[in-house]
Amino acid sequence: MLIFTTQMVLDTLSSSLKNTLGKITKAIFVDDTLINELVKDLQRALLQADINVQLVFELSKNIKERAKENPNPGLTKREQLLTIVYEELTNFLGKEPKEISITKKPTQIMLVGLFGSGKTTTAGKLARFYKKRGYKVAVMQTDTWRPAAYDQLEQLAKQIGIDFLGIKKEKDPVNIYHAFEKKLKEYDIVIIDTAGRDALSEELIEELNQLQAAAHPEERLLVIAADLGQAAQKQAQAFHDTCKVTGVIITKLEGTAKGGGALSACAVTGAKVTFIGIGEKIDDLEAFHPQRFVGRLIGMGDLEGLLEKAKEVISEQSAEEMKDKFLKGDFNLIDLYEQMKALKQMGSFGKLMEMIPGMGSLQLPKEMLQVQEGKLEKWKHAMSSMTKAELEDPEIISAERVDRIAAGSGVSIGEVRELLKQYRQSKKMMKMFKGEQDIGKLMKNMKGKLPKGFGG
Ligand code: GDP
Ligand code: MG
Repeated sequence: MLIFTTQMVLDTLSSSLKNTLGKITKAIFVDDTLINELVKDLQRALLQADINVQLVFELSKNIKERAKENPNPGLTKREQLLTIVYEELTNFLGKEPKEISITKKPTQIMLVGLFGSGKTTTAGKLARFYKKRGYKVAVMQTDTWRPAAYDQLEQLAKQIGIDFLGIKKEKDPVNIYHAFEKKLKEYDIVIIDTAGRDALSEELIEELNQLQAAAHPEERLLVIAADLGQAAQKQAQAFHDTCKVTGVIITKLEGTAKGGGALSACAVTGAKVTFIGIGEKIDDLEAFHPQRFVGRLIGMGDLEGLLEKAKEVISEQSAEEMKDKFLKGDFNLIDLYEQMKALKQMGSFGKLMEMIPGMGSLQLPKEMLQVQEGKLEKWKHAMSSMTKAELEDPEIISAERVDRIAAGSGVSIGEVRELLKQYRQSKKMMKMFKGEQDIGKLMKNMKGKLPKGFGG
């Protein structure tokens, strides 16, 4: 069900964001060129989703700036970049979710909005949403403008199996409210539907404020249609200023390319989106969580693990293991690959150095020490074209074999040679680590001898 709706919500934006982020995962190097390309793609995707130009500009600026930060320990540059994009998009749509607290009995939720925005439908959806969660819910119809409104909500209430409160001939919404006031204690939640107009007129403001003064609802939620796009901002602001709305429900989000505009526009006014409507049916309503929503837009599969990882710190144990391996000295190509992989996972060679007693004082530039992105993949391909004997003792690999390995793996001859050179250099360094007791001497020896693959 969730996956199904994800595909419908903001389909275009979602697929272009996924494409864009896919580029990060596939890129060999995370450099300025990639970041610039990424930001351009994002801009295109967001502008197509009708998001305000100024907002898109700010988002781009933030991403570019933050991309310069050093990655958190345990994150590669690539993962760091994905995390930044995710976080910035989330902030864009309202940071924290707005939860409606159902503590007071009854908690009254009043829905306001213009004609056709989806108030009555949403009143039914909300009632269903809360009934499913075990609350005793009633809906009240105070829309005396549209004769059909009474029947519409009564029908929905019947369908859901909850109480409907309304007086067919009554013209004054406040009278309707007072008629049921005493009865409301029976319910956990009362959802109050109201009348709309074509525009936010003085008359509508007056009517809503009178009803509000009588009911003192805990929540006043503005119902707004996603197809308004950026225009949602003006409407949200106007309702915010005159009716003190406590949140927004955006409806019809499944049917428009402009949904991003409506969502971000509401975030700008400070009005928090509480629910989204994603279809005409009674169950087509979801609580809105910016994080989850963005996660789904860009494909949460990749992200869940990544965000977990961002919180992790390198464990002492894995550092210990690395230290032992490193100090052993006698090693083959597979060891090299494993070590490089482990180093990459740990973020940087520098981090390891800090954990080896006496090594922390070495002043090595951090960027120099990061395992180069993409290189490991190529090495892996090259190594898969080698024989077992070659992997165990790369010294036996002849120039002719280098050519064959390159041809067989699709990796360039230069890169295969670089791998072998890296192996020799690393082996030399292993011996140094093992033999040298004098740190000062070691430092001198290390100058200019750091394996190239460790550099950026
Ligand atoms: P009201 O005038 O604000 O009470 O609006 P209604 O609840 O009568 O809804 C107006 C129209 O919008 C109806 O045809 C609803 O079926 C439709 N509608 C409401 N919410 C959604 C939604 O989330 N998605 C879609 N596609 N249609 C919706
Ligand atoms: Mg209505």
